[in-house]
Amino acid sequence: MNTFASVFVAFALAALAWRLWLLLRHARHVAAHRDRVPDAFAAIVPPEAHRKAADYTRDKIRTAAVETVCVDGVLLLVLSVGGGLAWLDATSRAQLGDGYARELATVFGVIAAGALASLPFDAWRTFRVEARHGFNQTTPATFVADLAKGIALAVALGTPLVLAVCWFITATGAWWWVWAWIAWVAFTMVLVAIFPRWIAPLFNRFTPLEEGELRSRIEALLARCGFRAEGLYVMDGSKRSSHGNAYFTGFGRAKRIVFFDTLVQRLTQGEIEAVLAHELGHFARGHIPRLLAVRFALAFAFLAVLGWVAREPAFAAAFGLPYPPATGALLAAFMLVAPVFTFPFQPLASLISRKQEFEADEFAAHHANAEDLVSALGKLYRDNAATLTPDPLHSLVYDSHPPAAIRIAHLRQLADRPASVVA
Ligand SMILES: [Zn+2]
Repeated sequence: MNTFASVFVAFALAALAWRLWLLLRHARHVAAHRDRVPDAFAAIVPPEAHRKAADYTRDKIRTAAVETVCVDGVLLLVLSVGGGLAWLDATSRAQLGDGYARELATVFGVIAAGALASLPFDAWRTFRVEARHGFNQTTPATFVADLAKGIALAVALGTPLVLAVCWFITATGAWWWVWAWIAWVAFTMVLVAIFPRWIAPLFNRFTPLEEGELRSRIEALLARCGFRAEGLYVMDGSKRSSHGNAYFTGFGRAKRIVFFDTLVQRLTQGEIEAVLAHELGHFARGHIPRLLAVRFALAFAFLAVLGWVAREPAFAAAFGLPYPPATGALLAAFMLVAPVFTFPFQPLASLISRKQEFEADEFAAHHANAEDLVSALGKLYRDNAATLTPDPLHSLVYDSHPPAAIRIAHLRQLADRPASVVA
């Protein structure tokens, strides 16, 4: 094994050990706190709901641990230093000759191997874990249809990007990675722009929030915050799961706030207004553009390193590839290598996300009732069986949202009056 291969394997194993250790810590922490509801939630989360959340979390952790070993461990090593990529590249060449068809076959071959390995885990999660805890609404037909649509979408969107990057590698010399970065930025911007209107509707039905008392109440809030009312939709989330949620998406004229129908059914009008105010806070503080800017900066730094590494014969040799490697094989090698070296940035991404959640909560507390948001969060955690007692380190690394207790304490501080809905 050459130096590149050794460094890669060492990082891959370290990443694997780190992920598994965090999962183990998380499982232990949740189990240790299974029998006692934290004080702040004692009034809204009954002990049996708390125990159910602990058992649900444990099942999810087990599945994640096995998947991590199989996909991020075994499959990654087989494809990379195990010669899987070299075999795919050689087979593509033997079947298709030189040219773009070969490059596409190699890249999509690696993507397909990863998707195929994850498929049993997705099915297990949906039809075992979610079903066992009473959340699953996905029929096998919906599952298969989602899969087919996902593949079609990946091919339709991925093909032009792969072709563009392959062309840059051959046509623009040592600075290809700058062009590839520009292509990646453009691709992401297009994706964010078309997602709400063209992609999300392939999977769900979106209906504008219907007229009535709730709508007029919300329109008053939207007017206060300067948001277009057409951007407000209810999604048939109940088609797949009884989990409730809300999210914001897109930018410019395409921006939307989406409520799951399951959420609208369970919350009071005041709570819905507070959740909406939180989502509006994400727009008001420019969270999508800021998150994109950070991602683009990281991608630029990473591609610069790859631009240098790609010229080293030892890089191709690490994967058993000929030198110079075919552009498709080079791209596929980057796709395998990237997650192993970018995982140390995960805590940073989570940190930025949690900071944005606090900002959105502050906005909500200012424009709606903070206590309504507190009670909405309580219901969300309870009905989604989300754990109230995550392992602090696991939470620090992965959680895009602050732990419920911290978030609620923060909201309480923001509330003008010390009302007590849940305590
Ligand atoms: Zn949020």
